[in-house]
Amino acid sequence: MATGILSNLNEAQCEAVTTAADVVQVLAPPGSGKTKTLTARVAYLLAERRLKPWNIIVCTFTVKAANEMKERITKFVGHECAKQLKLGTFHSVALRYLKQYGQHIGLGKDFGIADSSDSKAIVKRIIKKNDFSGDAGGARGRISTQKAKGIDSEQFWKKAKDVEQQEFARIYQEYEETLKASDLLDYDDLLLRCCLLLRVEPACVSNVEALLIDEYQDTNNIQYDLMGLFAQHRNVITIVGDPDQSIYGFRSAEIKNLTRMKEQWPDTLTINLEENYRSSGAILHAAQHIIEQDESRPPKKLQATHTYGQRPVLRKLPSAAAEADWLVAEIQRIQALSGDLLQPNDFAVLLRSAALSRAIETALGREGVPYRMIGGMRFYDRAEVKLLVDYLRVVDAPGNNEAVERIINVPPRRVGEGTVKGLHEEAQSKGVSLWSLVLDVVQGRCKPTTKVTPSTQTGLAKFVDVILSAQKKLASVTAESAPLVNLLQHLITKLSYQDHLKRKFPDEYEARWTNVEELVAQTIEASDPERLTAIVNDGALPSIEGLERRTESVAEDALSLFLANVTLATAGTEKAEQDGETAQQLTISTIHGAKGLEWPVVFIPACYDGSIPHSRADDNDEERRLLYVGMTRAQALLYLSTPLRNSQREEASMSTFLTQPGVAAFFEEHGPGIAIADVRALAKTLRRDCPSDTAIAESKKTLERDEDNYWPLTGEEPFEERAKWDRSRPGDGTWSFSNTRPAAVFS
Ligand code: ATP
Ligand code: MG
Repeated sequence: MATGILSNLNEAQCEAVTTAADVVQVLAPPGSGKTKTLTARVAYLLAERRLKPWNIIVCTFTVKAANEMKERITKFVGHECAKQLKLGTFHSVALRYLKQYGQHIGLGKDFGIADSSDSKAIVKRIIKKNDFSGDAGGARGRISTQKAKGIDSEQFWKKAKDVEQQEFARIYQEYEETLKASDLLDYDDLLLRCCLLLRVEPACVSNVEALLIDEYQDTNNIQYDLMGLFAQHRNVITIVGDPDQSIYGFRSAEIKNLTRMKEQWPDTLTINLEENYRSSGAILHAAQHIIEQDESRPPKKLQATHTYGQRPVLRKLPSAAAEADWLVAEIQRIQALSGDLLQPNDFAVLLRSAALSRAIETALGREGVPYRMIGGMRFYDRAEVKLLVDYLRVVDAPGNNEAVERIINVPPRRVGEGTVKGLHEEAQSKGVSLWSLVLDVVQGRCKPTTKVTPSTQTGLAKFVDVILSAQKKLASVTAESAPLVNLLQHLITKLSYQDHLKRKFPDEYEARWTNVEELVAQTIEASDPERLTAIVNDGALPSIEGLERRTESVAEDALSLFLANVTLATAGTEKAEQDGETAQQLTISTIHGAKGLEWPVVFIPACYDGSIPHSRADDNDEERRLLYVGMTRAQALLYLSTPLRNSQREEASMSTFLTQPGVAAFFEEHGPGIAIADVRALAKTLRRDCPSDTAIAESKKTLERDEDNYWPLTGEEPFEERAKWDRSRPGDGTWSFSNTRPAAVFS
């Protein structure tokens, strides 16, 4: 046996790895080692059953998961062998087959792939050409849904019941024709054409000896078909999944695929894994309580292998900004308490939607905590936010040539790149800023040597008008009239920004507009005099020109402060990246993006109704599962929180999932009663040395100073439950929690 494949696996996991059954379903809760088992099975098939790597297909849900899996397999069988596996997302495996055998279904080798913005642009052109109503993004999404259901444009046309459906059928048809004419496939096509290929030419997969799939609960109908087709010659399939973690119903994932599989292959061997190796008993206990609110779900056994540990924290904060400040302070406190054994990369902040990251990013940036975003961009890097911030920068300091260049033709004003470059060089040679040259040109004080056509001249005049009017606005408002909000709103209107975003990002318009609203919310916060003073007094903004300048206008000061704060929010992270400290970054991710991953400490802020469950979600059960997925990413400490007013300053109430009867008993209201011994245990999780006595003494001092913010433990502990969990099997030695009550440690 290749070293270690079966070591560190429990009995049920070993069975799943070594079974001779052809079709195997491993259905098990989060953290029970499904991915670990799947990886071990691949290694086992290679090392023990002597399967050839190129005859094994492994489908994962994300590219990241595929890479991680490959790395783990490499440890068992070596790089040469692992790299020959057909391992990747469904899309990437399908692409590989199409590139190799596409000629059987009339595909050339050089077909291109239409990404989502290409697809949208095509749909938009069709709608315009035919003078149809409806938005391109919506129609594009609908095409994708139909494709996911395996309904092609002909079939849709035949079933179309009314004019609206017929119109859509036409768009769908023309879209398909355009892709064909340009030799393009969209993402859905990769899967569909691969299905077609494998039906027409089954010999392409005659060598496939085993197919393995992770996160099976989130497969859709086409992926199901593809599974059957990949495995059609030998039907050797292993899938792992968890119905409780099905969170892609909104993208046509079919939970029924689990039962469908059993119907298609009645001899399917089902293996249940019941032990959780990831989370403390207390975290599992709380997560379990949430998922059990879904009464239609069959009861399941779940056993903790770690002791009970700290109950998760459920906290209410007055505002989104206060929530972010508390969260960052708590991260710093726990890190200090661990004697810095816990580093930022041991913490994750998981969000229901990406727009929620702004408040957190601002607070992290202010404190210099480095972070990375997975499955999304940092708030201030998002195009729609960056552009408005650039406008504010130019209003504040028009001499900022780079910012002027970035915004001068956005939204489009017929000012070409060549003209801007020419004007920029001309300004430089005259020793003036780009802005003042443009202003002189527009106001007729200067005739540029760079060619400026009449339409460009009009465009430049529009740009100048936007900036001048905004500066006028800024000068005219007072502190009482919330200067920054007024200024930003003025810019948004003047730029017809909402229409611009609708035109430019038809598919993602809503998400992008939500980010703009977030930025507006931030200017509201920044206009709050108390908060401004607090920031300045904190010394977070040491030398801001605007402050020293102390102009007569409160509004101008507020703007400089605001922009300095934005710069600060990004500067900390950029520096960390330059220093090559990427491993030391905290993770911010959507819950969707965190699927399959784990961290010692997890925060889920903004747990309010409208956020989770989301106001636009149709399926509350799916929203609950999403919260469950988020909670079960945590190994040792878990924090859920909600602001009582969201960032739009609307009243928010705690998520309905967290206010059900009995839920409160599973959480702490205040900080966790984490004890030094627990931190030592936590440190073991990371297989680092335990804190030295000096480090412990230091962190204890920090704690004592911080006492107000810390104890007490309130509420009744569910002692009986706790005792039950404590009797569960001890951990496997990778980590465990002591049950020492904090009072005993610090008394
Ligand atoms: P999810 O549903 O969230 O994807 P999963 O079931 O795939 O979870 P894994 O990620 O495979 O779970 O495992 C969770 C953690 O438990 C990992 O850190 C893994 O190394 C550890 N683990 C799994 N099985 C064992 C075991 N038998 N002994 C020790 N640790 C284990
Ligand atoms: Mg997994």
